Amino acid sequence: TTILKVEGLTKTYNGGTFALRGIDLTVEQGEFIAVIGPSGAGKSTLLRSINRLIEPTDGTISFLDEAMTSRSKSSLRRWRSQIGMIFQHYNLVNRSSVLENVLHGRLGYMSPLAGVFSRYSEADKLAAIELLAKVGLENEVYKRADELSGGQKQRVGISRALMQQPKLILADEPIASLDPKSSAVVMDTIYDNCRMQGIACLVNLHQVDVAKKYATRIVGIKGGMKVFDGTPEQLTDEM
Ligand code: ADP
Ligand code: ADP
Repeated sequence: TTILKVEGLTKTYNGGTFALRGIDLTVEQGEFIAVIGPSGAGKSTLLRSINRLIEPTDGTISFLDEAMTSRSKSSLRRWRSQIGMIFQHYNLVNRSSVLENVLHGRLGYMSPLAGVFSRYSEADKLAAIELLAKVGLENEVYKRADELSGGQKQRVGISRALMQQPKLILADEPIASLDPKSSAVVMDTIYDNCRMQGIACLVNLHQVDVAKKYATRIVGIKGGMKVFDGTPEQLTDEM
């Protein structure tokens, strides 16, 4: 099953910076794809374009065979509800509990309505607690998000994305703010959950060794262009 098809994706920011130039990319179900490239290459712009956090300048993106051309709020909400997002800086609501943060994933997108605890059913709460246990946070469920370590916060971010029951997860530099030990735990957690549930994953990384360790496929980006697309074994030292 094709989850995502990106064709000729181009993004020019106000001021004329060409962040992406004609990117083509097809993602199949269950693929675990590392997107690598130097800082400023366009990795983050690529992921944000797919989730429509930014509007592409040119090109097409289709998700589950549907062109993402509409700009209506209801279409954006529907697509984003099926695409889990994991951020470098976690994007948790600090004054809310870990459980509430995960439950926000049920809405599929950070909306102003998120945070109203009573909106969630008992079944949702149980599902969220089960997910937290799966990522090793069974003892932090009722803590405030800002009481956690960076690695723990990112595991909350992963649980929030999984709570959406997504077809696709986009992880933008998920380990860039973490020490090596927490990084390994976070990458293992993303990888194991995606592979087990057949969720396709695109993960931006700047460490080539980490990309090689986990990815089923590596996409290299430089200067907004795709310069490599292949298996970890095919990746040579030039990237
Ligand atoms: P990466 O994630 O690979 O570091 P980015 O996608 O963040 O790359 O950035 C690609 C290029 O676009 C860079 O030249 C960056 O400076 C520029 N850029 C990113 N965001 C913006 C923005 N909001 N406005 C203008 N230029 C931007
Ligand atoms: P980072 O810390 O990873 O650079 P930012 O703080 O720049 O991320 O936020 C990126 C954008 O993502 C913001 O506009 C924010 O509103 C949005 N956002 C936050 N949480 C979610 C979510 N769960 N799903 C989709 N978008 C989100």
